[in-house]
Amino acid sequence: MKLLARTDLPGILKDWARDCTVICPAVTPQGDIIFDGFNEATFTLDYGKPTLSPKSLFLPHSEVIFELVDGQYKEIKPTEKVIIFGIRSCDMTGLVQSGSFMTRDNNDPYYQARIDNVITIVMACTGPQNETCFCTTTRSGPVSAGGFDLQFYDLGENLLVETGSERGAELLSAPVFSDIDDNEASGLISAFWHKASDAIPQVNNIRDAMAELTAGTDCSKVWEKLGNKCIICGGCAFVCPTCTCFNVYDQAKDQTNGVRVKAWDACLYNGFTLEASCHNPRPTQASRLQRRHEHKLLYFNNTDVDGGLCGCVGCGRCSDFCPVHIGTLEVAQAIVESHLNKSGGKDD
Ligand code: SF4
Ligand code: SF4
Repeated sequence: MKLLARTDLPGILKDWARDCTVICPAVTPQGDIIFDGFNEATFTLDYGKPTLSPKSLFLPHSEVIFELVDGQYKEIKPTEKVIIFGIRSCDMTGLVQSGSFMTRDNNDPYYQARIDNVITIVMACTGPQNETCFCTTTRSGPVSAGGFDLQFYDLGENLLVETGSERGAELLSAPVFSDIDDNEASGLISAFWHKASDAIPQVNNIRDAMAELTAGTDCSKVWEKLGNKCIICGGCAFVCPTCTCFNVYDQAKDQTNGVRVKAWDACLYNGFTLEASCHNPRPTQASRLQRRHEHKLLYFNNTDVDGGLCGCVGCGRCSDFCPVHIGTLEVAQAIVESHLNKSGGKDD
């Protein structure tokens, strides 16, 4: 493990940016936090939850995967070397989970190429970034359990650096990184973890809603009510670090020229599951919302997050951004309230 003086960080990012693209938290003129190319004028370490997770750096909103030029086929695979600094632990867990989904059965070569070319650096959280954070409930924070190349801990004047991979270790050769005894570092990390975890409340509704769904409780009235409210904007899926729905379509210029494009899609859209026969296995918004939230709170695969709880990593962004308040926190609350009403003999 290594220590770095906080004031030396911009210089290190600048050094790294000589050999590859460095993406890090930046403040926009409007005050939003985004992941952007390193720029000393906009870089900040004083940031909370970035508005969007870094998933678009692995699964872009839209990318050309091959082109046809005068009848000649040319595959386009990403080759750019990138370092992403400042990923929050919930988002790192989201990347591990999405990466597992995109590569474990039929390997997506475009996603895999980015995994191969991107170095991930986590900045562990000192506490909740806003009132919708619930990573301690989903066991995806405040400190990342794995998948990263480096993890930084903010100790005030100094940053403690944990190594997660060989390529991460190779970044720490500059003399500004000083050694720290492993036992001392482990003690600092343990104290950091306890303090930060204690500051992020457990959300019982999430656990209780998972238990209801696992028990097969009939939640059809909840889905119907929420389905009637949803305005089908897709925002919850687009901000979610574990949503990976995409579509592939062709844009032809003429018979021998064109491109094939891969672009974000969302299971909340009617067209996503519409089959060529016009049959739709998810014909209503209620059924589509049910499907999405079952993916977050019911189904999970042990290969996705070792020992993880569910397909939601507790970032809270869907609750931050849904214009009609159908984020996972609100869905969990609706499921729990519906069950309580039923147990109390009330009709929901
Ligand atoms: S479902 Fe919502 S809270 Fe969970 S990971 Fe996705 S955006 Fe974050
Ligand atoms: S953000 Fe809200 S309104 Fe938009 S699709 Fe998701 S649940 Fe529906």
